[in-house]
Amino acid sequence: MTEKRAEIGQLGEFGLIDRISSNFQLNRKSSLFGIGDDAAVIEGGEDSILLCTDMLTEGVHFDLSYTPLQHLGYKAVVVNISDIAAMNGRPEQIVVSLGLSNRFSVEAVDALYEGIKMACENYNVDLVGGDTTSSASGLVISIAALGRVKKDKVAYRSGAKMNDIVCVTGDLGGAYLGLQILERDKQVFLANPEMKPQLENFEYMVGRQLKPEARMDIVYELAELGIQPTSMIDISDGLASEILHISKNSGVGIKIFEDKIPIDTKVYETAAIELKIDPITCALNGGEDYELLFTINQSDFEKIKNHQDIHFIGHVHDKANQNLLITKQGTPIPLTAQGWNHFREG
Ligand code: ADP
Ligand code: MG
Repeated sequence: MTEKRAEIGQLGEFGLIDRISSNFQLNRKSSLFGIGDDAAVIEGGEDSILLCTDMLTEGVHFDLSYTPLQHLGYKAVVVNISDIAAMNGRPEQIVVSLGLSNRFSVEAVDALYEGIKMACENYNVDLVGGDTTSSASGLVISIAALGRVKKDKVAYRSGAKMNDIVCVTGDLGGAYLGLQILERDKQVFLANPEMKPQLENFEYMVGRQLKPEARMDIVYELAELGIQPTSMIDISDGLASEILHISKNSGVGIKIFEDKIPIDTKVYETAAIELKIDPITCALNGGEDYELLFTINQSDFEKIKNHQDIHFIGHVHDKANQNLLITKQGTPIPLTAQGWNHFREG
């Protein structure tokens, strides 16, 4: 009876997902793509239907002592829309499931749904259902989104080809720094409740953490320009981790250049001066920026080379799994997704 049990921590999140998916085959003709991308792809006639879900739990994904409920509702929708965007799709419907403890008032639920409604309006999606249940400890919010994309326009993680150009939208590392600032302020406040939060200098980063946006604008613009990304993923776990996903799924290697990684000046200064952490590490391993990482064929470069918000950070080569960061000094460093260890040591 004393069989040793396996700890989830040893497998890790991705190991666990691999273990689950290895036990399931797709049996229906309408299931075009299952586990392993930002959303599942389902037969829908001329279009493909996209389906994804994301759950946020109190104490793990958010801390209600500094997260306004409106923002939380907004973010819970956005993280799902970001996964639809990452498939080159357009979101249409969401369902929202809540686990509520009796700590929550009706007003609190109203505030949460104010944020959900605002996201529905901004991204033109309909709330079409959900589930409400009680939770023994803390708030759980789980959203699933349905989207649509023309059949031949789905962007998978697996389509990157040799010589493709690697593109990133917006700027990276801000959301992670926002979280560090909020956590720091919380500790200061706990030590001395008279202290008022000092967030004025950090508005941009705190905003990136609390109220991210999905890059649907980029999905629409690429379509208008007639550019089909050869592969795409949204940046929820940090640039390094997402590069490795594209590399692994596409069977290619990716080389990126440190000096091309987009980092906002405020983000750079806050990391280097205020928090004394490496800004590049924040961009590579920070996560929650919800920008898009995608690859394009070189022949499409002319069409977007002057785009203000798309940055060209590297290229694809044919040596599978050889993923390199070329530093400002020109030194190649193997890209790993072990950002957490970095942060722990720091
Ligand atoms: P993302 O960061 O884009 O939300 P995840 O890393 O959460 O993606 O998930 C990767 C893939 O694994 C997705 O296809 C997702 O649907 C699938 N997945 C995650 N958790 C589970 C689970 N518990 N059971 C089945 N599939 C899962
Ligand atoms: Mg994703």
